[in-house]
Amino acid sequence: MPEITGLTLGGAEYTPQFVLELDAKRCIGCGRCFRVCSRDVFELVEREGIDFDDDPYGDDDPYGDDDDDGFSDDTSMVMTLKNRLDCIGCEACSKICPKKCFTHGSAAVAG
Ligand code: SF4
Ligand code: SF4
Repeated sequence: MPEITGLTLGGAEYTPQFVLELDAKRCIGCGRCFRVCSRDVFELVEREGIDFDDDPYGDDDPYGDDDDDGFSDDTSMVMTLKNRLDCIGCEACSKICPKKCFTHGSAAVAG
């Protein structure tokens, strides 16, 4: 696919970074990405047959699952990319994800 370039309201060019992958081994099923995504990309499903790396950051993890932030860290659920092709490349999901689950790429990479 050719590269896609957008324009801000002020006329500045930017290159959308579309979601490529979601690392299920890191995902804690918190739903943050689902809440911030304006498109129909995500679906939360039951985790079946996926190994969960429950401590990918060791003692340095600032986002442990024992917090009280109002989000469910229910590791029996995992987020999936139901419809990756609906992504507009805003990267909001990556900014909100506490486990760094996402990788992104431009249209030339993603397509
Ligand atoms: S980059 Fe934006 S549109 Fe794409 S999946 Fe993430 S939040 Fe949704
Ligand atoms: S924000 Fe990250 S950890 Fe939370 S459900 Fe989405 S991918 Fe999983």
